[in-house]
Amino acid sequence: MNFAISLSKPQVGPAEEAALLRAFRSGWVAPAGPELDLFEQELAVATGRQHAVALSSGTAALHLALLCHDVGPGDVVFCSTMTFAATANAVVYTGATPYFIDCDETGNMDPELLAAAFDTVRAEGRRVAAVVPVDLLGKVADYDTICRIADRHGVPVIADSAESLGASRNGRPAGCFGNCAIFSFNGNKIITSSGGGALVCDDKTIADRARYLATQARQPVSHYEHADIGYNYRLSNLLAALGRAQLARLTEFAARRRDIRRRYRQVCEEFQGIEIFGGDDVGDNCWLSAIIVDPVLAGFDVDGLAATLHGLGTETRPLWKPMHLQPVFADPGPINPAAQPRRHRAEPPRSANSMLNGTSEHYFRCGITLPSGSGLSDREISTVLRQLVGYARQHGKVHAIA
Ligand SMILES: *Cc1c(COP(=O)(O)O)cnc(C)c1O
Repeated sequence: MNFAISLSKPQVGPAEEAALLRAFRSGWVAPAGPELDLFEQELAVATGRQHAVALSSGTAALHLALLCHDVGPGDVVFCSTMTFAATANAVVYTGATPYFIDCDETGNMDPELLAAAFDTVRAEGRRVAAVVPVDLLGKVADYDTICRIADRHGVPVIADSAESLGASRNGRPAGCFGNCAIFSFNGNKIITSSGGGALVCDDKTIADRARYLATQARQPVSHYEHADIGYNYRLSNLLAALGRAQLARLTEFAARRRDIRRRYRQVCEEFQGIEIFGGDDVGDNCWLSAIIVDPVLAGFDVDGLAATLHGLGTETRPLWKPMHLQPVFADPGPINPAAQPRRHRAEPPRSANSMLNGTSEHYFRCGITLPSGSGLSDREISTVLRQLVGYARQHGKVHAIA
């Protein structure tokens, strides 16, 4: 469906066009070249890391990050249930089983549930190979606590920072937490290379291994010699040039998104039962703004609001549907082997592979994301705000003046 005002349209212009042309004319029209090297250096600086490896997607980066930390068949990987499917898909690519951890009120992995999951899964005699927290909608997870728990069990932490480039926590940039982190430069993220991703880390062995696996695991000899299964996951030099032009504008983009967040927050303050999702905006890159509607306090539910905004040409989306509720990862039920399609499936059943507290399901039911893109004009933002306030005035309740 096409909306007049969309959630997060890419913002590209003359700077990006010039960068692409420059790369094209240089003759480096391949997944190798100077733009790629520079993009990696700039990403490493922006995220406080020693190394960055630019890849064809955030999903590819997650896949390689898991492989580089020896995640494989039979392993369990703890990941946030409140995320985009790519997080869990990458776990399944390695042959490991995702185990879903619910969130706290910020939407990020609840460290208490993580600790409980370690106790439960360890008692079952299963090997936990990695923890993958997600920085939801651009808010950095509580890595101090998460890494302390994972360290206690000798398990690496791979940060899915696909959504949080430019964010920070306690003054440290997104991407610098855990053993390594990944980013996405897909078309809807805060910066885009039209499609792309990166793995960042401080360990040269990991970075070298990721680069090697991303280029078909070719041995450094003149003929084609292979000792491992490789992948074709490198980013094109052309797209790296586009990524560099976007990275140079990251601060500007985040400031614009923060301003949009502030204006939504003002509306929430006016009415009962509507709140900005995720708590305060400290350190947030404000990639997407979402609201949570409490139907009892607000006097309306989020579905009615969403339907009205859609009717007016404004795009909204529910928050990520939790992974433990997704058919592909849920309890497969009684299995008739003859009827089973040959495909990856998380097993054993769902109840054995999640640690839940109900928070993600609540957010999925009551939350929607609102247009948040840095490319929105002032006029478009005013239009959305007018629609939102109009609906709330008609169906909701203004806060009593104290
Ligand atoms: C976008 C996203 C990804 C995947 O990135 P792609 O570049 O689209 O492959 C992974 N995890 C999260 C949380 C994301 O939002």
